[in-house]
Amino acid sequence: MSNSPLTYTKRFIIDHPICCFCGGGTPATTRDHVPAKVIFDGKHRPKGLEVPACVQCQEYSKKHELVAAMVARFFPDSTTSLQGKEIKKLFRRADKAVPGLLDEMKPSLKQKSRISEFQKKEPNAAHVLNLGGPLVNASLDIFAIKMTCALHYGMTKNIIPIDGAISIRVFSNVDALNGEIPHALINVLGSENTLKQGTWSVSNQFSYSYAITDTKAYGVYFSTFRRSFAVLGLVWDNINIVPIGEGMKTFTPHTTGEFRRIR
Ligand SMILES: [Zn+2]
Repeated sequence: MSNSPLTYTKRFIIDHPICCFCGGGTPATTRDHVPAKVIFDGKHRPKGLEVPACVQCQEYSKKHELVAAMVARFFPDSTTSLQGKEIKKLFRRADKAVPGLLDEMKPSLKQKSRISEFQKKEPNAAHVLNLGGPLVNASLDIFAIKMTCALHYGMTKNIIPIDGAISIRVFSNVDALNGEIPHALINVLGSENTLKQGTWSVSNQFSYSYAITDTKAYGVYFSTFRRSFAVLGLVWDNINIVPIGEGMKTFTPHTTGEFRRIR
């Protein structure tokens, strides 16, 4: 019996035949790791959170995952030369995939005072993110939506339908220190999880917590990526019941694999 990745993926698709990102109407052709391998040191991640995807959805999100991987490396600072090399490579790749990205992410003069406040609380923070620009925002939004769809599928086996919705918000490490993360909401979520394989855990790179309703129609998911950024995602099985969430952006899945912003 062969244990080739192809065989494993084929078997996976038999068990999970529909792409979990584009509304529930497209056959899956591949097994997607969410978060992507590129997020982790040495692109090395334990098994788990593997979800069915169509080629279109997987391709669509690749460059955005690269941007998220780069942002995830900002804090804490790398401690090994291997990490340092990897980060430089990620910077180059992300800037090539999304031209203008690095220029946009340089802190503006207006942000400098906010940064020095941050560095008083986190004296080791050499790098602080400017996540305010449109390019980085667009990529992190797509990354956040994908993360939320995958966690919802992973925890419930439900695919968010075409008339369902995903509300997301991305928090930077500066937002976190400024108390902008809604802890009242986060506190109702279950305990923190990560990917684990035997004794190997990546909790310092990625963690998630969640709460789902008994009907599995709604879910709240919170995931953190090192100490650089965090994603809050809410899932609704019907667009019409989405409440107005403070600072949240709401999207609906589409058969093209793109997510359409509705609010
Ligand atoms: Zn798809």
